[in-house]
Amino acid sequence: MAVYGWIGLGNMGGPMTANLVAAGHQVKGYDLNPDACIAAKERGVEIAGSIAEAVQGSDAVFTMLPKGEHVRAVYEGENGIWAHAGADTLLLDSSTVDIETSRFCHEGSSARGLKFVDAPVSGGISGAAAATLAFMVGGLEEHTAEAVGHIEPMAGKTIVAGAATAGIAAKICNNMMLFIDLMASAEGSQLAEKLGLDPKVFWEIASVSSGRSWAQQTWYPVPGVIDSAAANNNFDATFRVDLARKDVGLALDAGEMTGVKLPAATLAREHFDALIAEGLGGKDCSLIVKNVSPDGTVAGYTQEKK
Ligand code: NAD
Repeated sequence: MAVYGWIGLGNMGGPMTANLVAAGHQVKGYDLNPDACIAAKERGVEIAGSIAEAVQGSDAVFTMLPKGEHVRAVYEGENGIWAHAGADTLLLDSSTVDIETSRFCHEGSSARGLKFVDAPVSGGISGAAAATLAFMVGGLEEHTAEAVGHIEPMAGKTIVAGAATAGIAAKICNNMMLFIDLMASAEGSQLAEKLGLDPKVFWEIASVSSGRSWAQQTWYPVPGVIDSAAANNNFDATFRVDLARKDVGLALDAGEMTGVKLPAATLAREHFDALIAEGLGGKDCSLIVKNVSPDGTVAGYTQEKK
């Protein structure tokens, strides 16, 4: 049995920690949101009163937080991870962050004699629940080798991407592809419906045809077609619009840095920005389907009263 510290028990951290507990490990979780703590406790996570409590005595500490600023905040300072981690503790950040934040974590850890790897994931909350996430890991070889064992109870596949920040670079490129694919499912699903196709029949056709993608298989934005779609639950978030906007923004920043032209990713950003401007940043990113409907209404979505 290993002991884990875990910071961030949200949509992803919740089910990921449940899988560590199910594998027989002790997990000390910390989150600012009391509801997330209650849900995690029901799944066997011990709730820590502070970051220090979660970190001290742990074999490894995972962070699974919204953005780079949150990750930096929990690492730094006298109450942060760096102040309380031991030299034997492996630190893993599984959040999707910018490359600079990941480099900050690598360099800050190394300067303190601590072990850090970037270890972002792909697979959504369904993959987190089913322990089939793809982990992409970056760091020193001896640290990435150690990381693989800690990750195993949550992963379908772990790939060492390379040196420091290679995992997060892979994640940024992957998610850009995901959101471009999501636009295809949004447009395809609505056009199919207006052309009189039964949504389930069309989804089955696309599933064995060239329209197939992970977004189409997992997030198809029409209710009653696949169980994992947010469309079945009024587009309550499995992956929030504002986080999707963040991820596409990270790719566009990297495009600017490298000179690669990214018109499709630019369009995805416009979709997410439009939803955020309507106050829908907390809904599921597959709600971009609303932007392609002729009158802005969409099956499975009823606007909540504000
Ligand atoms: P989420 O918003 O559901 O969960 C994040 C949790 O972090 C929240 O419970 C929040 O209260 C907590 N938190 C924020 N600041 C904190 C702090 N300072 N200390 C302690 N807790 C704090 O987000 P999520 O969907 O679980 O995503 C987490 C990360 O994983 C993001 O970077 C996201 O981009 C990435 N990701 C998400 C998915 C997905 O499908 N949801 C898939 C792959 C990767």
